[in-house]
Amino acid sequence: MRIAIGGFQHETNTFAPIPTALESFHEAFYAPPGQHPADPTLCTAPLWVARRRSRAEGWTLIEGSCSWAETAGLVSRGAFETLRDEVLGQLQAAMPVDGVLLGLHGAMVADGYDDCEGDLIQRVRAMVGPTVPIGVELDPHCHMTEKRVKNATLIICFKEFPHTDFVARGEEVVELTLRAARGEITPVMSLCDCRMIGSFPTNLQPMRAFVDKMSALEGSNGVLSVSAAHCFPYADVPEMGARILVVTDNQRAAGDRLARELADEFFAMRGKTMPPYHTPDAVIDLALQHSGRLNHLHVVGGHSELVFGEQVGAVVQVLRVAHEGNGHHAAVDAHQHAVFDVVAAAVLVDQIVHLLQLAVALQVGIQRQRHHRQVDG
Ligand SMILES: [Zn+2]
Repeated sequence: MRIAIGGFQHETNTFAPIPTALESFHEAFYAPPGQHPADPTLCTAPLWVARRRSRAEGWTLIEGSCSWAETAGLVSRGAFETLRDEVLGQLQAAMPVDGVLLGLHGAMVADGYDDCEGDLIQRVRAMVGPTVPIGVELDPHCHMTEKRVKNATLIICFKEFPHTDFVARGEEVVELTLRAARGEITPVMSLCDCRMIGSFPTNLQPMRAFVDKMSALEGSNGVLSVSAAHCFPYADVPEMGARILVVTDNQRAAGDRLARELADEFFAMRGKTMPPYHTPDAVIDLALQHSGRLNHLHVVGGHSELVFGEQVGAVVQVLRVAHEGNGHHAAVDAHQHAVFDVVAAAVLVDQIVHLLQLAVALQVGIQRQRHHRQVDG
């Protein structure tokens, strides 16, 4: 048995102003064959699981490249095509294979590609033919497009948000792909569009109970896996939105029915799944209330964490309110807070390095001029 694996990950905010280049992947996480870390990461859990199982069970794993970049704007066409073609080239060299595993995020959008993962999966399918199983792990903040469902054999999303279960779901992707490769199961996927946008943390009700129900449905009546794709709302792509995906052992009609039932239940929870979010004014009030006598560190985040990556400008807005002062907000000292934004920080460092290089070049130029003057004089 020969199984190949690879992947790339990006959560692309198509509204964000800073594009994502190939360097962003190389700086954040880039693991070519032979350089994969010993511990699993969000994008390499299936690889970590498959590596362990291949050693224990005596089959061959062909490890391909995996990469991810911090969330930011549109991925450049060159970056996506380079990463995609690297994985495809490795697969071509590994052929023939009995199965393919892909560790992807599911919300990568590149210049000219609304559905990067769908494009990769379609090309993998074209390479391996119609019968070789392709098992995919995705983040639930993905665009669960029909192209992916049509071309993959099985797709499983993390169930938990925060994502605490990426290894457990990786175990399932590997197990089901191996069973499909051995001909023990015939995975069939049923997709239902909830036509809904939202945020669905799973440590709160009613999502907690919904995730437990999805898990309980698995393993009986031919149901192999149930996933809720939460959606990634910061992307202007046609298939953005929440969807339910059911994988059955060749039970199309029953899978379609279950996907429809769960999609209706998911849709009925719209508007009831979010924790309370605060305005910039209110969040500073809260931080000050909890300050007390101790010198607490308060972490204030936008709904989606990054200034340039996701909720554009949220942290800047909080800082503006803090600086301008509004009653006791004036007590917030500009020197007592720090802003963490990896993409913004990277841009700043780039600019500083650029300025330093300019300054050095200028200094060298001045010294040369002086030297020439002295020689000429
Ligand atoms: Zn996510």
